[in-house]
Amino acid sequence: MVIEDQAVQRQVAVNMLRSLGVATIDEADDGYQALDALRAAPDAPDVIVCDLRMPGMDGIEFIRHLGEARSASSLILASALDPTLVSSVEAMARAQGLSVLGSVGKPLSRDRLGALLARFERPDLLSPNSGQPGASANELEEAIADGQIVAYFQPKLHVTDGAIAGAEALARWHHPRRGVVSPGEFIPLAEQCGLIDALTWVMLEQSMEELNTWRRAGQDWVVSVNLSLPYLEYNGAADRIAGLAERYGIDPQSVVLEVTESLASANLAPVLGNVARLRMKGFGVAIDDYGTGYSSLKQLASFPFTELKVDQSFVQGAAINRQREAILASSVELARRLQMISVAEGVETQSDLSVLETLGCDLVQGFLFARPMAAGDFAAWAEI
Ligand code: C2E
Ligand code: CA
Ligand code: CA
Repeated sequence: MVIEDQAVQRQVAVNMLRSLGVATIDEADDGYQALDALRAAPDAPDVIVCDLRMPGMDGIEFIRHLGEARSASSLILASALDPTLVSSVEAMARAQGLSVLGSVGKPLSRDRLGALLARFERPDLLSPNSGQPGASANELEEAIADGQIVAYFQPKLHVTDGAIAGAEALARWHHPRRGVVSPGEFIPLAEQCGLIDALTWVMLEQSMEELNTWRRAGQDWVVSVNLSLPYLEYNGAADRIAGLAERYGIDPQSVVLEVTESLASANLAPVLGNVARLRMKGFGVAIDDYGTGYSSLKQLASFPFTELKVDQSFVQGAAINRQREAILASSVELARRLQMISVAEGVETQSDLSVLETLGCDLVQGFLFARPMAAGDFAAWAEI
């Protein structure tokens, strides 16, 4: 559904959506008309594209009504207003429990609108198991032992020439009944029930195996593996990783360990010890989700990181949002000054990539280039 008071602009939006493959499109002049149409329709529209400044009921009031009605539709804000103001409306909508895909400026960009639509997932398709109870610790334990946890690889590319620098390993659960389950569903469970060691271990093994495949194909790419804080709280973590690399005949310089920035809650002493030891042995260490934690600068000063990964929330829409662009620019600059590699993750559009080029960011990763892929698909994508 498109809600827009200006007939010409509404037509532009409708045409653009149609050209992006949207089959059924409803239109409304303002919030009142939209609410009437929504009440009359048997199903909520998948996506509502909503202008903010409209006579009659404006977008902000309309969103409030949507929230009260617990609408299942996903929202895209289309507005020529100051991006900072639009961001605050986005935050307001989320706070009311609505699903917000993002915002697009005016005149509408087809590139941006397409990227926002691509984020949409129909609730009934969200995951094959939606509605089913979550996994149990026993089930996950068996899955790890049974080889159902599979490392997918998402490429990291040099901004300057698009060459592959390496790939991040991301865990997927190949569930016999539920299909491919994403890590958001089982990593927290693994952390809570003491299974994260075993899970991290199989991820490290598969990543090192993949690294050797790349070496045999003559590629010097680097593999990145995510480490949870509970894993790093175990004193022997660094030594175990070093031992595994040795067993696979791997140079520690080809492996980067990504550690999330929210170190606030962690038991800091063993984590610090492990990070220092990993660095001493020659592994790379990345600070992940940079910008979302609490004491970022203090942590950067006390941890010997080699790579800074700016959180995707500052990358997406950087081209149209001054605040995001400012945080992105200062993060890239900070990385440069501290002689760290800067990485932008979650790059989805050409316009955000252009900003990163201008800022001199080193590496990029995101759906614009490739999604995380099983090892075989990654090799095919990379043509090795
Ligand atoms: P992360 O480390 O921040 O990984 C990046 C996430 O962003 C991945 O989600 C990736 O698929 C997604 N992503 C990449 N490019 C784009 C893009 O252009 N747009 C959007 N919207 N998303 C993009 P994924 O694979 O679902 O992983 C989620 C999180 O689960 C990871 O966040 C990481 O914190 C955790 N995780 C994944 N695998 C492992 C693992 O083996 N061990 C541990 N400890 N955590 C893991
Ligand atoms: Ca990561
Ligand atoms: Ca991240």
